[in-house]
Amino acid sequence: MTSRFREIPSVNQVLRQRKVSDLISEYSHDSIVELVRDELAAARQSVASGGEPPSLDSISSSVTKRADSRWKSWPETVINATGVILHTNLGRAPLSDESIEAASVAAVGYSDLEFDLESGKRGSRQAHISQLVCQATGAEAALVVNNNASAVMLGLAATAAGKEVIVSRGEAVEIGGGFRIPDVLRQSGATLVEVGTTNRTYARDFEAAISENTGAILSVHASNFRVMGFTHAPTTAELVEVGDRNDVPVLHDLGSGCLLDTRPYGLAWEPRPQESVRAGVALGFFSGDKLLGGPQAGIIVGKREYVDVVSAHPLARAVRIDKMSMASLSATMLHYIRDEPTEKVPIWRMISAPLDELRARASAWNGSAGLWAEVVESRAAIGGGSLPGETIESFALRLDCGALGRSAESILTHLRQRDQPVIGRIEDNHVLLDTRTVLPAQDRAVLSALQSLIPDL
Ligand SMILES: *Cc1c(COP(=O)(O)O)cnc(C)c1O
Repeated sequence: MTSRFREIPSVNQVLRQRKVSDLISEYSHDSIVELVRDELAAARQSVASGGEPPSLDSISSSVTKRADSRWKSWPETVINATGVILHTNLGRAPLSDESIEAASVAAVGYSDLEFDLESGKRGSRQAHISQLVCQATGAEAALVVNNNASAVMLGLAATAAGKEVIVSRGEAVEIGGGFRIPDVLRQSGATLVEVGTTNRTYARDFEAAISENTGAILSVHASNFRVMGFTHAPTTAELVEVGDRNDVPVLHDLGSGCLLDTRPYGLAWEPRPQESVRAGVALGFFSGDKLLGGPQAGIIVGKREYVDVVSAHPLARAVRIDKMSMASLSATMLHYIRDEPTEKVPIWRMISAPLDELRARASAWNGSAGLWAEVVESRAAIGGGSLPGETIESFALRLDCGALGRSAESILTHLRQRDQPVIGRIEDNHVLLDTRTVLPAQDRAVLSALQSLIPDL
């Protein structure tokens, strides 16, 4: 047994192998030594459990593979054929060409991020973006931070730390990723006061809970679930009425930041930031990368006196947005100001894509899959914790597992492991590739992925 261990090569022997010494010229010496050590440890383990000692050559090849998989460039582009438009695991909203270009300008060189070119003095990184956000939403003032979770936390900390915040029992919810409203409130230094019941809460419930300790009323859009049937929630305007009467600010976590009317696309109504602003909320919060269709960001809109208090809070610096996201968000906001989101913003192009166009693309995909697939009607979803249960009609290609001679799972795996991974979904034991979420520029890559599935006859 001990002699078998002695057959395992030493670190230095492996390092002298051509394949491994080539790696050292590409990476650092120390990082390759670490890989070799990991590989030799694996070899010792395999010998300990009765395996053969691997040859010097096979160890070198494994070291190369480890280097390739550990240090490949990341993230990889994947083709989203799941039909879920805002897929959080796949990076939520893809950006418009203009938003990508703006991020790249901010990254490539120096910029006037916090510099006033007219006076030559220090400028504000918020000045430009807040003006665009105000124009698109009708708000008096705006502030942008790194995501909506921190926007809400910051808004609560700045307006209600040490005080009570009144929340409807039906809205003391978990948004996802451990973001739970009661916990966020506690973290921000406020105390939660729940009112109403899980399914029905009225404006008078809020009014009855107001005391001299009240810091704010918080309304949270139930963005990832739906309560149906015997339900009631006060409108934002009713809450603002209660707030105004008692001199209590109303904070509204809108979640998605949808600036367009969703109803013409066959979707349910989604609250819009401009409606909250019009209703008179002190502060409204929403994401940059949900239905707004831009980069990760948290956008705070509202009354100047409250936005000023939020901007001056020490946490605002801790949750500052980076220059690339800021640039990219500016370009996204401009699409709305130019009234071109359905032409330019990728997720809105997907949501508004006409059905006959999708059917034609699915047929073109089918051309290469031939007898092994069928064009079918499907339902695409918004996802990303927006419009729960709401789907849009779409067309998909359904792959015939029987004819392809493999299981749906194995087809999904094959498609996922290609150089240009294609992510599909399984429905009724068949793989479905939905056209609505595939960017038209990726159609060719889908075609070649489909061809790679066709069995050799
Ligand atoms: C998504 C969401 C958040 C968190 O937003 P992020 O931008 O992902 O941080 C907060 N509140 C609501 C209601 C949401 O839907």
